[in-house]
Amino acid sequence: MSMSSSSSRLRCDDAGLGHVPHVRIIGGLSECPGCGLYQRVPDLAAGEQATCTRCGQKLARRRRTAPLATPLAFCISSAAFYLAALASSLMTLDVYGRQRTVDLLTGPMELMHEGWGEAGILVGAVTVLAPAVAIGFMFVILYAASCTRLPDWAPRVLVWYDKLRPWSMVEVYILGIFVAYTKLTDMAHVDVGPAVYLIGALMLTMAATDSTLDTEMIWRHRRIDRVTRTENGQTVAVDYAHVDQTGLPPVDHLVACTSCGLVGELAHPVSSLHCVGICPRCEHKVWRRLPQSLTRTTAFLIAAIVFYIPANLYPVMTFLRMGGGGGHTIIEGAIELWQDGMIPLSLLVFFASITVPMLKILSLGWMISQTWRGARGHLVARTRLFRLVDMVGRWSMIDVFMISILVAVVRFNAMASVTANAGMVAFAAVVVLTLLAAWSFDPRIMWDAAGRNGPVTDGLPPAVLRAQHDRAAASSPSSLPPAGVLPARMEPDQA
Ligand SMILES: [Zn+2]
Ligand SMILES: [Zn+2]
Repeated sequence: MSMSSSSSRLRCDDAGLGHVPHVRIIGGLSECPGCGLYQRVPDLAAGEQATCTRCGQKLARRRRTAPLATPLAFCISSAAFYLAALASSLMTLDVYGRQRTVDLLTGPMELMHEGWGEAGILVGAVTVLAPAVAIGFMFVILYAASCTRLPDWAPRVLVWYDKLRPWSMVEVYILGIFVAYTKLTDMAHVDVGPAVYLIGALMLTMAATDSTLDTEMIWRHRRIDRVTRTENGQTVAVDYAHVDQTGLPPVDHLVACTSCGLVGELAHPVSSLHCVGICPRCEHKVWRRLPQSLTRTTAFLIAAIVFYIPANLYPVMTFLRMGGGGGHTIIEGAIELWQDGMIPLSLLVFFASITVPMLKILSLGWMISQTWRGARGHLVARTRLFRLVDMVGRWSMIDVFMISILVAVVRFNAMASVTANAGMVAFAAVVVLTLLAAWSFDPRIMWDAAGRNGPVTDGLPPAVLRAQHDRAAASSPSSLPPAGVLPARMEPDQA
């Protein structure tokens, strides 16, 4: 390693990477976001995808559809469906000749009026605000991608879009409407408004926009900056090489941008504790792993467990009908649907509201404890389980959405009324906290802790680092895990 005397002097202060002499961007190389293995990803043909050879995570894919025109068409439809849904009615309830019509905004408003401001803001944010902002961002991104040179602000919008998109829960809301509708049909006459069909269509067009958008094509459109900045503002020169020209760079010198996936090689081993600098392509802060992943996930998970108890013990809503009725807990809601003969729906509610939060808490707890201990088993299973937990987490919001609709529509004073209870706020807190726990967990640290990603010097529990150090000292270098760069697995795009 050739370093100038000034940079080796700078190396002594361990404050971040103020001593980076230059960054080399390595083209054709990709780090698996599931397990942290660096792999060669060649140029894909249309309809091809590359998956990780170690954990099966999708690394890249190329669509057969037109990269800009197709998502643009879906995005325009989304905007039209969204505006129409906002302007039309959601459902009309008729109780002995008295009618009440509600729209998308009534639920969040009523929750706020009743004093459940946090829940009202949450429901409004994920069903009304987030979809609108996501559609707007998508328009801006597609406009930027159609320019001959990608505008400087475009990368930031793409980064924000990625962060915001999981909060847009239109598809979960549709199921919430469905459960609310089923609960109402046995007490009164319900007319489904046009907004329900429009939201259904919006769900499909938004999913289609995401699945046809090829962000890698947009990134390729962007010239990589010749200079970039370190965390403390120091300017650093950037040069570019393709993986075939450089051979196999040492894995502990590599870092991949968590936002756009660009891989850089530094002149020294990369720390997991400090921000490496600013990505020369997307301007996102680059970290080797998500910052403080293990401690943050642990904290969110403990908070979720604390709320889990009142969420299941206290009623989530009170249903009064002709002076009768009373409070319902989450489980009682599912049992009632079962008793009414709505068995598939009861199973759905049971799965979304009882099984999913439980699954998330238990599996994240398992992953965290295995990582704290530096366990080396079941890594592929744990990585797959994490992908599942990450995917199903949002579906627990069904009950919260259902209550927001019932509270809005069933307001007939003594005849029939639904009010929200404290259990609902606790339940919403469990859902949000487990989502935050999953998003702050970096599955690559499970492989780091098991010693499968080459030498790691920091960012893991001290006991795990010590054990790895001892193992490396005891074993011959040839028995160390392969730290080279393998080619990714290529297969046809099944989606
Ligand atoms: Zn992998
Ligand atoms: Zn980047």
